[in-house]
Formats: sequence, C-alpha cells, structure tokens
Amino acid sequence: MRLYNRWAGNPKGTAENPIRCVAQVQVTPFLSAQCQWKRGKGPGERYCGTHASMIARGRLPDVPPLTKERPSATWAARECGGG
Ligand SMILES: [Zn+2]
Repeated sequence: MRLYNRWAGNPKGTAENPIRCVAQVQVTPFLSAQCQWKRGKGPGERYCGTHASMIARGRLPDVPPLTKERPSATWAARECGGG
C-alpha cells in the first residue's frame, strides 16, 4: 500500500486507493495527493491515460510495483515447477 500526502501535519499519510492511478500529483507547492483518475493503462496498468503517456515519453518516473502487485501467475509457476 502506497501512502500519499505524507508530511509533518499528516504523518500517517493517505492510503493508496487501489482503483486509482498511482501517480502522485502536486495539489499545491506543499501538498501532494494520489491522482484522481481510474488506473488501467501504462506499466502494470497502474496509471490513467494521462500519466501513462507521460511515462511513455519519459516525463514521469514509473512508480515501482509493490511486491504483492506481481502477477499471481509468477508465483503459481514457481510453486508448480518443482516436479
Ligand atoms: Zn494519473
């Protein structure tokens, strides 16, 4: 779970909304938040269309996937591969 808007006045931050784009947007110079658009595009389908195209152009760093976001097929293949 990613955290957004984490600062001295909000030390716990705001938890990631799992259906929204994972990009962090700057609301004011001192306040950031998770992008409000639905995810479904870009690397790992974690972004909205706007941020997916920004990443494709190299204008936005890709947010690394969380461990639990790895495709479940990868784990299944490892567990079944012992023979
Ligand atoms: Zn976005």
